[in-house]
Amino acid sequence: MTKIPNILLIYTGGTIGMVKEHKTNVLKAFNFNNIKEKIPELNLLDCIIQTVSFKEPIDSSNMSPKYWVKIAEIIENHYDEIDGFVILSGTDTMSYTASALSFMFENLNKPVIFTGSQLPIGDLRTDAKENLITAIQIAATRDGDLPKIGEVCLYFEYKLYRANRTTKISAEQFEAFNSPNFPELGESGVHLNFNNRVLKKVNKNKKLVVRKNFEASIVILKLFPGISEQVVKSILEIENLQGVVLETYGGGNAPTLNWFLNLIQKAIDKNIFIVNVSQCISGSVLLGHYETSSKLKQMGIVDGKDITTESAVAKLIYLIGENIPQKEFKVLFETSLRGEMN
Ligand code: ASP
Repeated sequence: MTKIPNILLIYTGGTIGMVKEHKTNVLKAFNFNNIKEKIPELNLLDCIIQTVSFKEPIDSSNMSPKYWVKIAEIIENHYDEIDGFVILSGTDTMSYTASALSFMFENLNKPVIFTGSQLPIGDLRTDAKENLITAIQIAATRDGDLPKIGEVCLYFEYKLYRANRTTKISAEQFEAFNSPNFPELGESGVHLNFNNRVLKKVNKNKKLVVRKNFEASIVILKLFPGISEQVVKSILEIENLQGVVLETYGGGNAPTLNWFLNLIQKAIDKNIFIVNVSQCISGSVLLGHYETSSKLKQMGIVDGKDITTESAVAKLIYLIGENIPQKEFKVLFETSLRGEMN
């Protein structure tokens, strides 16, 4: 007889766990442990559902590495007895959180599925029910003895994505996320279809390692035409700065002005890791393709390839926390560790 999967729902906050207060119309978090009263359909699912909620649920705008570690620890503490995890979070920073979790878990062989919603659960037109029910179904899906999914994913509006490939694209539409540089891992239609070709293989023999040193001091520096020397200088000279996600143009291009290149060189010389990611939604950095990126390449800037900014932030904090020696850092960052880059 096959065992009924045990699923743990972790509510961190966000619209999905909120209801509108009648008098004021203000959204407020409800007691998530009563989730089955709000969605009785959950009783029909073929799995055992347990819930745990942040004592004080947060809007995901208040998300921080401290909470990433908190979520990781909940998963770590329940890892042996739980078959699949569903993390409910606000959508605003979900891609950052889900990317961070993907780097925290090495050798993950159980599903960790993030979801949320654009409308609260009590709303007549809510997307919360479908997102939640299907996310649970995905977390409970087995392939013989093994879970179907062994990686951190994000499920939203009928699509299953590799979490560290996602970005939030809409504050209005139900289709709030996209995975511009990587195919979907699955789709929910009449059937739940998985894209087996791109799913990470589950390997039960490898032991889970949880990395929780997420305290680095980093910054995102987005270039724009006319950005001044004073602005770039004051950012790159922040005391104890350890890393920069440099959002460049197109295929990794940046100004060739002397002051700009000198400031980047000075920062690299101070052992600040600078990662070049593109401002474009899709496509990849191609260092050295144009003159406007060849100097950066010569300086040893890290090539972010087709990584998202969200994932680059998480990976940078992760690798700095691992104390990787300067020489190996670039090679490691440019290597796909959890399927986050091609
Ligand atoms: N502001 C909310 C949050 O990210 C929006 C949402 O839940 O989707 O927490």
